[in-house]
Amino acid sequence: MVVLSGGKAILVDPGHGRGRHKDLKREARKLGVEIKAQLATHGHADHVSVCPKIGVPLFIHRFEFSIAESPLNREVLTFGSKAPEGFLAFQFPGEVRVHAVFEWSDTLFGLGAVKLNGHSPGMTGFLHEGDGVLYAGDSFFGSRLIDSVGIPYLVDPELFKASIKELKEYAEKGYLLIPSHGKPVEGEEAAELLNFNLKRVEETESLILELLKTPMSTDELALRIMERYGVEITPQRLALNLVPVRAFIAELYNQGEIEAVVDGGLKWRIHRG
Ligand SMILES: [Zn+2]
Repeated sequence: MVVLSGGKAILVDPGHGRGRHKDLKREARKLGVEIKAQLATHGHADHVSVCPKIGVPLFIHRFEFSIAESPLNREVLTFGSKAPEGFLAFQFPGEVRVHAVFEWSDTLFGLGAVKLNGHSPGMTGFLHEGDGVLYAGDSFFGSRLIDSVGIPYLVDPELFKASIKELKEYAEKGYLLIPSHGKPVEGEEAAELLNFNLKRVEETESLILELLKTPMSTDELALRIMERYGVEITPQRLALNLVPVRAFIAELYNQGEIEAVVDGGLKWRIHRG
């Protein structure tokens, strides 16, 4: 998103890809403005990897600071450690320098920073009150993306659900919601898509409880969920889905619903009391 503020352009989630920086600079030239600053909703590589090439100050929530700055931290976040080269989507080895961090509810260049975490620790939406627009980043997804992976990528299901509920309130107030992966939605269409996201998370929780009547490893559980949703299974997709599946396991464990056992490896099963 490009926002005009005080006669200058503010870029929100500049993105990734060769040549992207040239496209963004050209768009700013067409508008007859200079690019003043960059804001990122979170530190995932597909949102920030082009930032160093644009060369103006980058602002990010403080929980996302080290994720943007360190390529190794980005790998830790999605793989749990250093990751095999080229194995993760959008993996790139560069450091992304952050100029300053912000807090939720701060205002930056006229945009309000809205807490929408759950997809990542510091995921932030940017609210333009005047235009009635909320740039929502990865706090919800288009249905096509969800159908292609099976489970929305999240690191905390409870926070993810709370963010969806927050988004529903903005949709009810008439805001246009812009996701990073999907088309902008408002009104009835926004409500439907948010419900689709919420339902997929709630369904996954029930499905896990059903599947864990038989003790299962995290890998097996992720595979079974993907099979249930008819997703094409590749090593990369399976590895990516291990992240939300681990988050669901932690949540269900904390609720006392499941327990851990060692049975030819670490497995999880319904709590037997
Ligand atoms: Zn993301």
